[in-house]
Amino acid sequence: MNSSQLSKRLETVAKYVPAGAIVADIGSDHAYLPCYLVKSGKITKAVAGEIVEGPFQSAVSQVQEDGLTDHIEVRKGSGLSVITPNEVTAVTIAGMGGPLIADILETGKQSLPGVQRLILQPNISGISIRLWLQENGWTITKEEILEEDQKIYEVIVADLTIEKKPLNAQDLLFGPYLRVEKSAVFKKKWLQELAQMRKIKKQIETSGQSEKNLERLRELEEKMRLIEEEIK
Ligand code: SAM
Repeated sequence: MNSSQLSKRLETVAKYVPAGAIVADIGSDHAYLPCYLVKSGKITKAVAGEIVEGPFQSAVSQVQEDGLTDHIEVRKGSGLSVITPNEVTAVTIAGMGGPLIADILETGKQSLPGVQRLILQPNISGISIRLWLQENGWTITKEEILEEDQKIYEVIVADLTIEKKPLNAQDLLFGPYLRVEKSAVFKKKWLQELAQMRKIKKQIETSGQSEKNLERLRELEEKMRLIEEEIK
């Protein structure tokens, strides 16, 4: 992967960036995504945010190497603190766990005015993101699920729309669009999760019948029931 040839995962994120958007890519690491978007002519302006010094320096070098310093500003800082309200129109956050992405959105939500689209790619626990979106007035308008290098990724696109579609428990867990599409990758992901949960269930069962364990078992069994129902 480089800034001209993205991974399939990041290419899917790039696909949902509106043409002409001003983008903040949070947790940009090597800044491949904003560099690719500018080089392909889809956007002309972006901020690459990165909290850790090493990846921040990689982003700075990549932007210089690509000759894009007039188009992409690399800023060091946590989450959305690197942007101000009404500065960008789209935010991408990719390659992190769902709970971290949701935390970045929650902690930095005062920077979100002016943002019309969020493109989020959780490595795990998309439910954390869907819950945050639902609670904060964002509507999921598109989702994709893909497999690359034996890993399965979800991409969640959310817009500020007038029409609000409330999500039920299954929509939040599986994704309102992904569960309708029910692709082969979707089924594979949830079969893998189910196998993992069966192992965890066995471990809990052999570790005693404390109130805490019984509660964990009840939660796990409920989730397993939802998954079995969804992919049957
Ligand atoms: N977005 C790139 C991608 O999808 O290929 C890089 C993903 S990399 C696994 C996650 C990056 O997010 C790391 O470089 C990490 O330092 C950065 N990161 C983690 N928490 C962050 C935060 N709160 N604010 C900004 N960057 C963060």
